[in-house]
Amino acid sequence: MDWKSIPTVKEAAELSYLMWERGWDEANGGNISYLLTDEEAESLGYVPGTGRTIELPGVPDGVRGKYVFVTATGSHFRELKDNLDELTGICYIPEEGDCYEIAYGLENSRPTSEFDTHLAAMAVRLAADPEQRVVMHNHATSVLAMTHVAPIDEKEFTLALWRVITEAMVLFPDGIGYVPWCVCGGKEIADKTLEKMRDRRIVIWGYHGVFTTGKSLHDAFGLLETVNKCCEVWLTAEACGHRNPGIDDKGLREICDTFGLTPREGYLTC
Ligand SMILES: [Zn+2]
Repeated sequence: MDWKSIPTVKEAAELSYLMWERGWDEANGGNISYLLTDEEAESLGYVPGTGRTIELPGVPDGVRGKYVFVTATGSHFRELKDNLDELTGICYIPEEGDCYEIAYGLENSRPTSEFDTHLAAMAVRLAADPEQRVVMHNHATSVLAMTHVAPIDEKEFTLALWRVITEAMVLFPDGIGYVPWCVCGGKEIADKTLEKMRDRRIVIWGYHGVFTTGKSLHDAFGLLETVNKCCEVWLTAEACGHRNPGIDDKGLREICDTFGLTPREGYLTC
């Protein structure tokens, strides 16, 4: 099977263009990775050991033997759908060794420079829920704007968003992880992000962007849309004087009871 015929690859191309249209992936901002299902991986018929091998120290055990679709380093999301061969590809993570193989695509290129963080995040999310297979990073505008205005405290940040619209609690009862600004691309920010991803699906980087995870690309994208919408409404309300308090703790608890959700422990007062 041609790797570009995998429905998820087409979805990634369409969604990346959509995200660019929304202004969330300016220039080369943003990256996506997707862990192929066993059926998708088998359909490729790749022979391990035949691809371009690239060193990568610290490959997490949780993704060994797996195939990962990933966007290329420096790729522009507005161009991705028209150049899958160079701007995306599928990597095979061998059972042993500090390396991975480029099985398909990524011609004249390499995966995102955050590939090690993506793999580690996938392993962390898989340990929490075996259905999780997507890591998505971008610069969603309202989320970024909110990091300039809202409290820099993940509990207060989460509560602010939960109070905005009913859907917030439904989509992310486990809350939002918040990493205050630090230079990206290093071990410090990666470690902090992974720690928060152990029991959350969203991590916001102050003054930079947001990571969402999910069972599918549309799942992770829907979560991102919801978070961005909440931030947008919160910012608009703030600009208008924020006269009403939003959904109180009792109301948030009612949402959880109605939909069978467990809110993050210690966040609600009732
Ligand atoms: Zn970024």
